[in-house]
Amino acid sequence: MVHVKELGKSNIESAVDRDHVVVVGGGLAGLAAATALATQNIPTTLFESRPRLGGRAGSFLDTSRDEWIDHCQHVSLGCCTNLAWLMETVGLDNLFRRDTTLHFVAPPTPGPSPPEIHHLSTGPFPAPLHLLPALFGLKYLGRRHRRELRKGLVALARHRDRADDPPIGEWLARQGQSPMAVSGFWNVILVSALSESLDRISVSHARQVFVSGFLGHRRGWELLVPRVPLEEIYGRRLSEWLDRRGVTIRTGAGVARVEIRDDRPCGVRLKDDSFVAAERVVLAVPHHRVADLLPASLAASPSIARLSELETAPIAAVHAWFDRRFTELPHAVLVDRLGQWMFRREMSGEAGDYVQVVISAAGHLGGRDRSEVIEDVLAELCRIWPAASSAQVLQSRLVIEHRAVISPLPETDSLRPPQQSSLAGLQLAGDWTRTGWPGTMESAVRSGLLAVENLLAQQGIAEPLLQPDLPTGRLARWLLGL
Ligand SMILES: Cc1cc2nc3c(=O)[nH]c(=O)nc-3n(C[C@H](O)[C@H](O)[C@H](O)COP(=O)(O)OP(=O)(O)OC[C@H]3O[C@@H](n4cnc5c(N)ncnc54)[C@H](O)[C@@H]3O)c2cc1C
Repeated sequence: MVHVKELGKSNIESAVDRDHVVVVGGGLAGLAAATALATQNIPTTLFESRPRLGGRAGSFLDTSRDEWIDHCQHVSLGCCTNLAWLMETVGLDNLFRRDTTLHFVAPPTPGPSPPEIHHLSTGPFPAPLHLLPALFGLKYLGRRHRRELRKGLVALARHRDRADDPPIGEWLARQGQSPMAVSGFWNVILVSALSESLDRISVSHARQVFVSGFLGHRRGWELLVPRVPLEEIYGRRLSEWLDRRGVTIRTGAGVARVEIRDDRPCGVRLKDDSFVAAERVVLAVPHHRVADLLPASLAASPSIARLSELETAPIAAVHAWFDRRFTELPHAVLVDRLGQWMFRREMSGEAGDYVQVVISAAGHLGGRDRSEVIEDVLAELCRIWPAASSAQVLQSRLVIEHRAVISPLPETDSLRPPQQSSLAGLQLAGDWTRTGWPGTMESAVRSGLLAVENLLAQQGIAEPLLQPDLPTGRLARWLLGL
C-alpha cells in the first residue's frame, strides 16, 4: 500500500513524497492513468468525489430491482486500441462480447408490415473492400444511393484539407449526397458515434470515425458490448486490480483544489480540508470542473479559460424490462427513428429481457414529458417487432445525461488542451483533452496514458504507453491514400 501523508496546511513542505502521484477523478481517464502508473510501480492515490468509480461510464443502483443499471449503454469499437489495452492489462477483456454482425432495421415505411432487418458483416476482402457486402446489404437504400455512398466514402477518406472543415451536413450536400443517403446512412453512423446532429459535426471528426472505424482495417467496426454492468467492470473489478497493485483509491473524496507552490504542484486540498502532498498531479475531471480546482492565475490562462467554450451534447437512454423476449437480436441499429440503437440483455434468473434504446444527440428531447418519450420509443419497438406488443413492460425509465460528450464542432479541437499543462508536474486528462479522438472512452483512456507518458518523460524515462492504432491495410493506403 502507498504511504500517503495527510497533514494540515502548515506542513505542506515536509509532506511532499517525490515519487507519489495523485490522480483526481475516477472516470476512464483517471483509471487509465492509475493503471499505467501501477504498471510502472509508481505510488499513486486516486481521488473520486462520487461514491463510485467509472464517471460517465458508470452505473447506479436501481433500488426497486436491487440491480446495477448503467446510466447508458457504453460500447467500444475494434479500433479503440487503448481501451482494449486497458481491459487486457487488468484482465477484464473477457467481460465484453464482440458483435461482428451489425443488424440494421430499415427506416419506417407507410403500411402495417414490420421493417426489414439487414444483417451486415464484412466480406472476405481486404480493407476497404471488406465493406462492400455491408454497403450492398443496405437494401432499403437502393442502388443509386449505395453508389452515392461509395463515392462519398472515398471523397471523405481523401479529404485531408484541415482548412476546409465545415459541418459534415454541409459537406455531404456539396458532394451531392441525397437526403435518403444522408438519413439512411451518414446520419445513422455519425449521430450515434459522435452524438451530435450533422450540422454540428465537423468533416474532420466525421472522417476520423470512418477512417478508424470502417475504412482502414477489417476489424475497426466490430462492436464490443459489456456483458455486465459498467459498475462491475470500471468499478468493482478494476478497483480490485488497482488495489492489488498498491494504488490507494479514495471514493467519496472530492478534491477542492490543486495546491501550487513555486510554479509546481505540491499537493491537493480535499473538500474536507485535509491535504495530501504530491509533486505530480493528474487532473482527470470533466472540462467544466478544471478551472475551479486551479489557482486563479492558472485558471485564467487561455488554454484553461477557453475550456468554457467547449460545447457538450446530451445522450438519453430508455431502459425497459419486458416479461418475455420479443427478438433474438443482441442489438439493432434503428434507422431514421427517435432511438438509434437497441441493446438487449437477458434478465438474470428471469424469463424476460432488459432492453435499452439509446437516443444520441438528444437535445431535441428538451422539455418533452419523460413518459411521452418512453411511450414513443416503446411504440417504435412494437412497430419493428410486433411480438413486443404482447409483451408486458414490467418497468421503464428514461435517463438523460446532459453533458454526455463534447460536441465535435469545427472549432472544438482548437479548444482542447494537451495533457501537459503549463506546469511540469500538472497533467490534464479527460476525453476533452487533445487526443486526436472525439470525446469517447477511447479518448479518455488515451489522455490518461499520454499524461503518464509525460510524467515519466520528466523523470527521464521514455516509456511509450499509447497503443498503436490498428494498422491501415495496404490496399486502403493505396486506394484511399490513408
Ligand atoms: C450517456 C452516455 C453514453 C455514452 N456512450 C458512450 C459509448 O457508447 N462509447 C464511448 O466510447 N463513449 C461513450 N460515452 C462517453 C464516455 O462516457 C466518456 O467519454 C468517458 O467516460 C469520459 O471519461 P473521463 O474520465 O474523461 O470523464 P468522466 O467520466 O466524467 O470522469 C471524471 C471523474 O472526475 C470526478 N470528479 C469531478 N470533480 C472531482 C473532484 N473535485 N474531485 C474528485 N473527483 C472529481 C467525476 O465524479 C468523474 O468520476 C457516453 C457518455 C454518456 C454520458
